[in-house]
Amino acid sequence: SLTAGIVGLPNVGKSTLFNAITQAGAEAANYPFATIDPNVGIVEVPDDRLNKLTELVNPKKTVPTAFEFTDIAGIVKGASKGEGLGNQFLSHIRQVDAICQVVRCFEDENITHVSGKVDPIDDIEIINLELILADLETVNKRYQRVEKLARQKDKNAVLEYEVLSKLKTAFEEEIPARALEFNDEQWNIVKGLHLLTSKPTLYVANVKEDEVADPGINENVQKVKDYAASENAEVIVVCAKIEEEIAELDQDEKEMFLEELGIRESGLDKLIKASYSLLGLATYFTAGEQEVKAWTFRKGIKAPQAAGIIHTDFERGFIRAETVSYDDLIAAGSMAQARENGKVRLEGKDYVVQDGDVIHFRFNV
Ligand code: GDP
Repeated sequence: SLTAGIVGLPNVGKSTLFNAITQAGAEAANYPFATIDPNVGIVEVPDDRLNKLTELVNPKKTVPTAFEFTDIAGIVKGASKGEGLGNQFLSHIRQVDAICQVVRCFEDENITHVSGKVDPIDDIEIINLELILADLETVNKRYQRVEKLARQKDKNAVLEYEVLSKLKTAFEEEIPARALEFNDEQWNIVKGLHLLTSKPTLYVANVKEDEVADPGINENVQKVKDYAASENAEVIVVCAKIEEEIAELDQDEKEMFLEELGIRESGLDKLIKASYSLLGLATYFTAGEQEVKAWTFRKGIKAPQAAGIIHTDFERGFIRAETVSYDDLIAAGSMAQARENGKVRLEGKDYVVQDGDVIHFRFNV
């Protein structure tokens, strides 16, 4: 399954945030496949649609979908040269599918900063530079061989050489791969290189307790936002300390607490949703009297593969996907009425599943 890695310099609030993640943790019973690894935290994906479907269908049980965050400790300056736990850190990053970089935006004189002062752009650049240097090494390893082949007019080599040159130039200017433009063909080559800086990335700006309701007052947050905009990345503002407290509350208490703070949605919930979509994930639903359940799929897959997420038998014996979009179902008020409205479609094996589809699979055993 796909996972988002949490990275950041020491003392920026990573562990605090990761604690909140594991405490808010999904009910293990619902996710028997879940990895038992202390560095992995499983979170349920908050989704209002699931509550609405539950009201409509009134099932015995409702099960949200979940996904994993991985805590990646140990980045230091010089990691790409193997300093500290550098190599280990880089190999852990290589294994995740997206990166959430926690950036310290809170001032607190009792908590030392590794560079002696709170400077979020400096911090971001320290980490990004290590990743860029590691990628530059990856590119350099192939560069000369591919250049030679390209000179002999090998067609694939010519294509790859173009991509490698573009990456090399960017890395030498300290620009990450994700900030570059590639066409589909080129992008396939980039993917094959398994670079660190081509992974989708978002920044988590960690602010003080009294700033969450109005992060605009924190000028560090603005700096992070400007920086992120330059590489089309998103910024989520959280106060890790508060998230840790929220994670201990039940749903009603949580809502009251958020209201007191003057915010609608917890930072962690925002982070979960943003990471989910950063990973290219979406949700379809099954809605029966026994159970209403959300399922995670990778955007772009077809109906049989989506069925296979529930059970391999569903994929093997796939016949049809009885599908209604969430909006059509809610507008109709019941499955029977949606059917009457002609909104329940019989989709075949080439149907590309959409976010929010409510599906009943028909299959042969
Ligand atoms: P890590 O080294 O990045 O994992 O950082 P920690 O999560 O251990 O946090 C370092 C210190 O900063 C701890 O003393 C935390 O209590 C404190 N801290 C983390 N997040 C916040 C926050 O949002 N506000 C304040 N005031 N302190 C925080």
